[in-house]
Amino acid sequence: MTRLILATRNTGKITELKAILADAGLTHELVGADAYPDIPDVKETGVTFVENALLKAHTLAQATGFAAVADDSGLCVDVLGGAPGIFSARWAGRHGDDRANLTLLLDQLSDIDELHRGAHFACVAALVLPDGTERVVEGRLRGTLRYAPEGSGGFGYDPILQPEGDTRTCAELTPEEKNAISHRGQAFRALVPVVRDLLG
Ligand code: IMP
Repeated sequence: MTRLILATRNTGKITELKAILADAGLTHELVGADAYPDIPDVKETGVTFVENALLKAHTLAQATGFAAVADDSGLCVDVLGGAPGIFSARWAGRHGDDRANLTLLLDQLSDIDELHRGAHFACVAALVLPDGTERVVEGRLRGTLRYAPEGSGGFGYDPILQPEGDTRTCAELTPEEKNAISHRGQAFRALVPVVRDLLG
């Protein structure tokens, strides 16, 4: 069985990619970064999702000698020219303070009318082989931003993004509903033919 490393310690992401590979009939052994505790986390020093995903995947593929997948994602707001983008997790200054990030963004957009509140979640996933071969795929979830948070599910900006064609926010969807349309789900599903092509 070919081993494939997913550059994350997030068990939700590992479970999601495992299920997608299994559904596609792929039998690769998927393990997270926790399987390699001696390899330090990679600093995300890139300035685009693609750079950060490639940085993480190259580092892990080199260090382990196995193919590695890494993803990078964020919220891109049309009127902000794509921001917060790579700064999504630290928009309000502290890494991972979801509530502060979301509150700051809502304040910044308080005067923006309904018509101009378009945004999307983006996820870039990179697959890198130990010999340096690299492939990049992307998934997007388009929607509009609410004026106030709604819903208690999900994480990050889920309570303020209403996906196109729905009347609920991402935080009001079930995890299954979210995975079916999410940027990450789309990017991971786009990886299937790439894994098949490069790893057999
Ligand atoms: P990461 O690439 O998974 O680390 O995500 C970076 C940041 O983007 C997160 O901390 C969230 O603020 C935001 N983000 C990414 N994906 C989602 C999502 O599915 N829902 C809400 N926020 C997200």
